[in-house]
Formats: sequence, C-alpha cells, structure tokens
Amino acid sequence: MPTVIARHNLLGMDTAALTELVAQWGGKPFRAKQLQRWVHQRGVSNFDDMTDLARDFRQTLHKHCEVSVPPVSTEHHSADGTRKWLFDVGMGNAVEAVFIPEDDRGTLCISSQAGCTVACPFCSTGYQGFNRNLTTAEIIGQLWHARRELQRDITAARLPGSEPAAPERVVSNVVMMGMGEPLLNYDQVLAALRLMLDDNAYGLSRRRVTVSTSGVVPIMDRLARDCPVALAVSLHAPNDELRDRLVPLNRKHPLRELLDACNRYLEHAPRDFITFEYIMLDGINDADEHARQLIEIARQVRCKFNLIPFNPFPQSGLKRSSQARVRLFAQILMDAGVVTTVRKTRGDDIAAACGQLAGDVKDRTRIEQRLPNRAAIDITQEHG
Ligand code: SAH
Ligand code: SF4
Repeated sequence: MPTVIARHNLLGMDTAALTELVAQWGGKPFRAKQLQRWVHQRGVSNFDDMTDLARDFRQTLHKHCEVSVPPVSTEHHSADGTRKWLFDVGMGNAVEAVFIPEDDRGTLCISSQAGCTVACPFCSTGYQGFNRNLTTAEIIGQLWHARRELQRDITAARLPGSEPAAPERVVSNVVMMGMGEPLLNYDQVLAALRLMLDDNAYGLSRRRVTVSTSGVVPIMDRLARDCPVALAVSLHAPNDELRDRLVPLNRKHPLRELLDACNRYLEHAPRDFITFEYIMLDGINDADEHARQLIEIARQVRCKFNLIPFNPFPQSGLKRSSQARVRLFAQILMDAGVVTTVRKTRGDDIAAACGQLAGDVKDRTRIEQRLPNRAAIDITQEHG
C-alpha cells in the first residue's frame, strides 16, 4: 500500500506554527510572513502563483503543504444582499457561513462546530445534536472562501476605470455566531482568532471580531487572557429558573458565575462592554417583569443589550414576540438607561438568519435519548 503523507493545510496554521514549519526547512521568519500574505491577504492557493517566493521554496511547499477549504455544496443569495455558503465537512456533516452587507460594514458569521452540545431549545443547531469540532483550517476556510468570492464579484462588477472595491462589500467584521459553541472548541477557535487579527493574515481589529458564547465560564477567563476580542453573551433569560431551561449550560454555570466572568473579562478589555443577546420568545421571556430583572443585571456589568426576534424553525414549537412587544420591552430597558438595540432579521428568505443555520449534523450524542423532553412545549406549558 502506498503511504499517504498528510499535507499541512496552511489555512490552519497561525504565525507561530507556520514560522516553526518554515524554520524546519531552513527558512527565516519573514518567509513565513510572505507566505501568510499570499494565502490569507491575497487569497492565493496555488504555490506557483506566489511569484516572489524562491523556486525551491515553492517546490517544498508543493511537496508538503496545501491550501484547502472544505468544498462548498450550496450557495444562496438573498434578496437583501445576504449570502450563505454551505460547506461540506465530510461524513455527512455540513456547516454554514453567512455574509451580511450593511451600509458601513460587511459582517461574516461563521461556524465553529458541526452541531452543538448545549442544546438550547430555540436553536436549530442545538436541535441537531453534535458531531465534531471544526479544525482551525475549516473555521478560517469559511472566511478565506467568503472573502475570495466577494472580492471576485466586486472585481467582475467593476467598470473599467471605476473606483476599486466598495468597502462595505468586503468582510470588515467577523462574528462567531454560526453553528456551534466556540468556547467548547477553544484551541482551534483561538488559533483562528489569532489569524483574523494578524496583520499578515486578515488584519482585523480586536473589536471587529466577536465571539458569541452561551456562557462557558472557565473558558471565558482563558479567552480574556489569550485574545480578548469583543464578547457577546447569549443571556436570553433574566433569572436562573428560566435560563436553566432556555440555555441548559446555565445549570452548570449559573447567572451569578456568568456575570462575574463578564466583569473579569472586561478587566482585560477596559474600554469594552459585553453585548448581551436576548432572544424574544412570545410568552416565555418577554414580559415587563423580565425586562425589569434585566435592568438589575445591566447595573452589574458594563453592557448593552441586543434583542433578537426569534427566528422560527419547524420543530421548535416556539413563537416570535410581536413587534409591539419587542418595542415595549426595549423601551423599558432604554428608559432605565440601558443601551438596547433590536437586531434586524436578515436573510430569512434563504434560512440564513440567526438560529436558522441548520447545516447538516450526523449526531453522535444521541440527543433524542439524552434530552427526550427538550421540545419547547416543556417551556411553554409552564410559562405560556
Ligand atoms: N453558541 C453560541 C454562538 C452561536 S449561536 C451562542 O449561543 O452564543 C449565535 C446566536 O444566535 C446566539 O445568541 C443564539 O442564541 C442565537 N440564536 C439561536 N437560535 C436562534 C433563533 N432560532 N432565532 C434567533 N436567534 C437565535
Ligand atoms: Fe449551541 Fe448557541 Fe445554538 Fe445554544 S444557541 S444550541 S449554544 S449554537
């Protein structure tokens, strides 16, 4: 049998790893930087096109390395300009990335896991169970691919002699709000974040990269030390009793612990604030009393609130709060001086809105057996 030699996928290597690899071949650190710029900044995957690299270095790269993105199985364009890619990550699993253009920025939402173990009852990813963590190359591959596609479109649409790329069309912000819980895949996510911030790779500023977490307290502390990017915390409930059911991880890390972890995080990012995400579920967590309890929370942590209209999906059995209710809820918070925004729903015609990212997950956790009663009816019966 011929021996298969695994190639290094350069998309998954942060500066330290790449510098070490290049050093093994006798190369200086600046070679690694040059290579990184070709791969990440210019989106080049063919080593022959990396014209300022010495020929023997390119040959070594051919022999030992690759730039490999998971194949895209489908791609959708929404009427509002949102784009969605479904990446095939093998063994029947697929993950999604979504690009949302706005007037002053372009935000790419990417996935960190095939599925999720946290199993929030309002989330279609949670419903599908969990298969595996994505590798750094698979996480960065989503960004690499999206940037390349968007830049290609811009170039194609550009008239001869016209101004270069409209800046709002390229990726200016990355949010880890796709499928999966990023802090439960910490090592791979951390290497990906470092590449996003690296000047030789994507050069994004710390505040333009957001990790969203359901509240993995010990890992929030590690992220604060290692790479304090903007942090969004999926709060969704103002007390433990309700949060235990909406975000099951709360049973392990209750609100008190979570809020303390938020404050410790802010010690590492003194000019920042935590964004609390709060999904608006009709008759579940959208009463005036809930808003009043949130005000108490807002007094304890430097934060702003982002109210997210629930995006329904067939199995959830849950309903979105009415627009009027969301407005009133937001008003209660704002009257108390809490900065509050309501998220616009984008791309829902192509199921690309938050929580509709379903991808495909071959569940290995037997979620049906683990959580037989997790159907949202559980919640509605007690609170509806
Ligand atoms: N696991 C992380 C990141 C991925 S989920 C987390 O939970 O924070 C990203 C965001 O989408 C979270 O705030 C999540 O609560 C929200 N979300 C999940 N399902 C949703 C749905 N059906 N409608 C609207 N938002 C949803
Ligand atoms: Fe997992 Fe986030 Fe979905 Fe909860 S909301 S199941 S933590 S992806």
